[in-house]
Amino acid sequence: MNEYDSNRILDLTKKINYVSITNIEEADCYVLNTCHIREKATDKVYHEVGRVKKKFRNKKKPIVLIIGCVAQAEGDVLLQKEKYIDAVIGPQSYHEINKIILSIENKDTKINSTEFEVIEKFDQLNLVKNSNSKISSFLTIQEGCDKFCKFCVVPYTRGPEYSRSFSEILSEAKQLVDNGSQEIILLGQNVNAYNFKNKRLSDLLFSLNEIKNLERIRYTTSHPKDFTNDLIEAHSECKKLMPLLHLPVQSGSTKILKNMNRNHTIEEYLEIIEKLRRKKSSIKFSSDFIIAYPGETKDDFERTVLLMKEVEFINSYSFIFSPRPGTPAANLKKIDTKIAKERLAIFQRAADEVKKKYREGLVNSTTSVLFENKSRATDKYFGRDEYFNSVIVHSNENLAGKIRKVKIDKCNQNTLFGELILEDKPKEHAA
Ligand code: SF4
Repeated sequence: MNEYDSNRILDLTKKINYVSITNIEEADCYVLNTCHIREKATDKVYHEVGRVKKKFRNKKKPIVLIIGCVAQAEGDVLLQKEKYIDAVIGPQSYHEINKIILSIENKDTKINSTEFEVIEKFDQLNLVKNSNSKISSFLTIQEGCDKFCKFCVVPYTRGPEYSRSFSEILSEAKQLVDNGSQEIILLGQNVNAYNFKNKRLSDLLFSLNEIKNLERIRYTTSHPKDFTNDLIEAHSECKKLMPLLHLPVQSGSTKILKNMNRNHTIEEYLEIIEKLRRKKSSIKFSSDFIIAYPGETKDDFERTVLLMKEVEFINSYSFIFSPRPGTPAANLKKIDTKIAKERLAIFQRAADEVKKKYREGLVNSTTSVLFENKSRATDKYFGRDEYFNSVIVHSNENLAGKIRKVKIDKCNQNTLFGELILEDKPKEHAA
């Protein structure tokens, strides 16, 4: 979502003649868009501002803006501790950026803009064309979260759930396709909670499915609690919806899920997986896991490993629980670090085995790849298959923006390597 936001910030600032540059040392304004999900996020902000300071030691200071969830959570502290920062702007207030830059240019003032003004934000963004022309583009449809999982900062940094209007989203999707995007990844902290005047995510998927020249649709990130039957149906009916679903589970133990306030059981999670598989046999899954959440016993942990093996997630993101200041879980007793590290290693070994088996099974198979770009200084092209696997092939032909069949020759943990399959040209008929 930060990538989407950063692009939109660039679209906005063009209106006051600020454009993006590659050489930091020439910047008049330095914008750091931050994420508060990982540990030490605030330290990274100070570190980064320190780097800018160094670069501008003997030059005119640029305007320094800290945007995003760290700004939201730590705004006043950042302004007090680091005088080099001119303004902090929360993720729901960045539509104010031009006003803020201009007032800093005019006066020498410090600004904290961290109100939750999400409706106004999207009203402003709708006035500015989305200029992103990447082959695969993000599109935010929903923001914020009302779920309050005990470990998570999102409800405090992005605010309550908000869904953008159906027509705004379709119009932005068409803009992106007109710009050359062939894949759209719908974004939301709780994307399947999307609800605008009773239009749900499934309605959006069906409508996007009709857009000419849009080839692929994905969405992330979903919550099992909002996984309704209409959405399951969309997976079987929308041909452009890709067959990989990222469905975070966090733990294989219902007890831990209850402690986390995830509001579903493991049986309910498995039922969703089962229903999806019945409707679309080719579907595969990826997920997020928190290992050693406070109160996790050996038995709870083993259930998580078992779940990994049972569902065979083709990708997983696993971390040891780390407390986020201000969340209810921050006050819970942490599991011994040595045990936590051992559990993470065991879990990741199991996950790697599942992934390795899956990827080795792809060798000699044929896959359909949407190519995004050429690697620098070689004739290698990078693209992604329907399961979001990275694929690299050699080609003298410009493949960017093309969907081609590839035979996979070999793989490693992160990439598949293959050869283009030469497709038969359509036969010409005699007049
Ligand atoms: S549903 Fe996701 S975004 Fe919402 S509180 Fe839970 S983990 Fe955070």
